[in-house]
Amino acid sequence: MAPIKIKFWGVRGSIPTPGPRTIRYGGNTSCVEINFPDLPRFIIDAGSGIRELGKELLTIKDPVKAYIFLSHFHWDHIQGLPFFKAAFKPGNHFVIYGCDEPDVDLTKIISMQMNPIYFPVAVEDMGAKLEFCTINQGSYDVEGVNVQTHFMNHPGYTLGFRFNYMGKSIVYMSDNEPYLQNQQSDNDPESLEAMFEKFVDDKEGRLVDFISGADLLIHDTQYFPEEYEQRITWGHSPYTYTVDLAVKAQVKHLVLFHHDPDHDDDTVDEMARLSRERLTSYNYHIPCHPAREGEVITL
Ligand SMILES: [Zn+2]
Repeated sequence: MAPIKIKFWGVRGSIPTPGPRTIRYGGNTSCVEINFPDLPRFIIDAGSGIRELGKELLTIKDPVKAYIFLSHFHWDHIQGLPFFKAAFKPGNHFVIYGCDEPDVDLTKIISMQMNPIYFPVAVEDMGAKLEFCTINQGSYDVEGVNVQTHFMNHPGYTLGFRFNYMGKSIVYMSDNEPYLQNQQSDNDPESLEAMFEKFVDDKEGRLVDFISGADLLIHDTQYFPEEYEQRITWGHSPYTYTVDLAVKAQVKHLVLFHHDPDHDDDTVDEMARLSRERLTSYNYHIPCHPAREGEVITL
């Protein structure tokens, strides 16, 4: 089988960060493309990185079909969609997967983003055929690829994705934080603590099962632990948690993703160094590096 190729079009969290301080890893927000051999493209998230991908798709003469999986609807995961030029070309066909929010379905969420107050072109005028497909936590078949989804620990409804195909697996978990830190109460600390222990174990256990043995794990690594302490419940992880999760789930390759907008390239390098050091301390040896805009990983 020809290899699966994973390309990073946007690796930054929260907001695009152009400029010399981020030139090596890139300033565009979340967008990752998976090319399974002989299948339409799979695109995960539509941050500002999807704009460049859209330009590449425009160079293809034949009509393009692709599947777009949206983890959630915070700006950094959808802000590139109105600028995704491939979606303006008649004949192209995009199937957009995402989760409904309470009382607002996926179609409405995306069309509201392109309300004339915010953007001059309505979603129905984009030209390409756009199909919206609501998903939840579950398991789906898309073109013979088994797509599993799991809710992340992030404000609102956020999905992580696992793609299983021909014995290979890729897990994308942007915007996720440890469960443990959210469970705090002053009432009856002993019994509650015991209860939460179990709760946390169960939740973490299910997450580890979801990731288990992945050939590639792309995971939120926005903070150093000392930063995370000030940002608990913001929905992002310190590198320590990401590394521990990768070890517990015995993944084969770890990519640090969703870089903090205030981290320059050297800071990202330092986080990678500490992450590798932590992996070594567990005597667990796998490739581990920060996601870099433009990088292609082959499985
Ligand atoms: Zn994000």
